[in-house]
Amino acid sequence: MSDENLRRFLSELSRKVDKSKIFTEPEELYSYSLDASTEFKQPPAVVVRAGSEEDVRAVLELADRNRVPVVPRGGGTSLTGGPVPAVPNAILLDLTPMNRIEVNVDDGYAMAEAGATVLEVDKACRQYGFFFPPDPASSRIATIGGAIAENAGGLRGAKFGVMKNWILAMEVILPGGRRVRIGEPVYKWRWGPDLISLFVGSEGTLGVITKAWLKIYPLPEKVVRVLGVFDRIEEAGKAIAQIRRRGYVPMILELLDRETIEIVNESLGYNIEVAEAMVIADVDAPRESVWRIAGEVENVMRECGGRTSASDDPVEMERLYMARQGAYAAVTRAYPGVLLEDITVPLSKLSTALKELDDIRKEYGLRMPVFGHAGDGNLHPNICFDPRDEEQLRKAREMFLKTGEIAIRLGGAISGEHGIGLAKKELFLEEIKAVRGEGYVEMVRMIKQMIDPNGIMNPGKIFL
Ligand SMILES: Cc1cc2nc3c(=O)[nH]c(=O)nc-3n(C[C@H](O)[C@H](O)[C@H](O)COP(=O)(O)OP(=O)(O)OC[C@H]3O[C@@H](n4cnc5c(N)ncnc54)[C@H](O)[C@@H]3O)c2cc1C
Repeated sequence: MSDENLRRFLSELSRKVDKSKIFTEPEELYSYSLDASTEFKQPPAVVVRAGSEEDVRAVLELADRNRVPVVPRGGGTSLTGGPVPAVPNAILLDLTPMNRIEVNVDDGYAMAEAGATVLEVDKACRQYGFFFPPDPASSRIATIGGAIAENAGGLRGAKFGVMKNWILAMEVILPGGRRVRIGEPVYKWRWGPDLISLFVGSEGTLGVITKAWLKIYPLPEKVVRVLGVFDRIEEAGKAIAQIRRRGYVPMILELLDRETIEIVNESLGYNIEVAEAMVIADVDAPRESVWRIAGEVENVMRECGGRTSASDDPVEMERLYMARQGAYAAVTRAYPGVLLEDITVPLSKLSTALKELDDIRKEYGLRMPVFGHAGDGNLHPNICFDPRDEEQLRKAREMFLKTGEIAIRLGGAISGEHGIGLAKKELFLEEIKAVRGEGYVEMVRMIKQMIDPNGIMNPGKIFL
């Protein structure tokens, strides 16, 4: 894209969008040049803080006409470089000012604009005795638009799945500024193909999501938090697989390994018992049955070699939850360089994956705390290194690839929830080669070409 195109775009933009929403000074652009991974850096040429659908339409119409790249951005909490421009001179479209939420409890949904945070939606539902189940650990900052574009999961994913399971309808602005509404805010509608799924996980490469109608769910009557402590990591993996195998579906089913527990204790000032692994299971059920079911889940953990306890004390429950939710922050506080993996493996292979990860850690000698939403097979190995040390950086990159290869070999996925972005392009190609069939790349390129013929949407990302 030439400087001339950008100049023309900017001059036309200032006639259509209020100047107070347009930012071009280097110090204003800097904080938009990174995401939470901090691994990739590219400042945009201009930031537009969209306050309305009209702003988004104006940007996409002008950008398409002038062939200027556009990168949508929500909270910027992506861990894969998703909202970081892959090319220079891009327009960054910040959706966070569009944050209206309306809960329609009678019809069972919440309508949220793209910039509302996931936690704000959840809180709005709670006033009515309902909640919004997807809960990425970043939910205070991550937006509905970003969570849909990444198909985010979270701690409650073991029972409630990921964003795609909770969308009834959405509005999207396509390149050229055309608005489309997909789906209906009712619990059943039928016409195909399923275009909602096309935009879920599209990482800003097809269009800009401006609002969504989301299913809501009644708050559980009672929750008991079960804790299992294990002397061998494989036993923890086995316990998680067995809990699911025997038909229990805890609302949360999370794993923290020894290195994670140590780092959480050191960095966040907790005093959690250090063991090879810890499993947290939230059993939600009616009051009269919740302790019985919690006891059964404890029994499964004990059969697999764990020591267990259970609590409904809100302070103790919150302490464990915050330790898990804060795990990534704790690791990044302790280490200046962290490559975060996000693999998913079949539940029956969880134990094997954990063992193989431990082997990689031993082979390379770098610290690699592993935690994750293991109840849905999703593991986050965090490869820690000193970025000033070339040798450590080389090892970390190799470990990153080997970890992704474990997922492919065991029949899983290289990304459970963080997406591809810039971080996983290489591994994504390997996954495509290994399992997706020779038509896959051609098919996704044809879809991209039809929706975004001028290639302005977040170029250089998943549509390689
Ligand atoms: C501490 C921490 C914990 C995390 N825990 C989890 C977790 O438990 N589960 C999980 O799934 N993820 C997690 N993440 C990753 C991240 O929070 C999620 O991917 C989140 O959904 C990103 O939302 P965002 O609003 O920050 O999007 P951004 O980071 O701003 O953008 C992400 C991608 O979405 C695109 N995008 C953003 N808004 C729109 C829009 N309106 N229309 C079209 N495309 C758009 C961007 O172009 C980009 O490609 C975590 C991150 C951090 C920092």
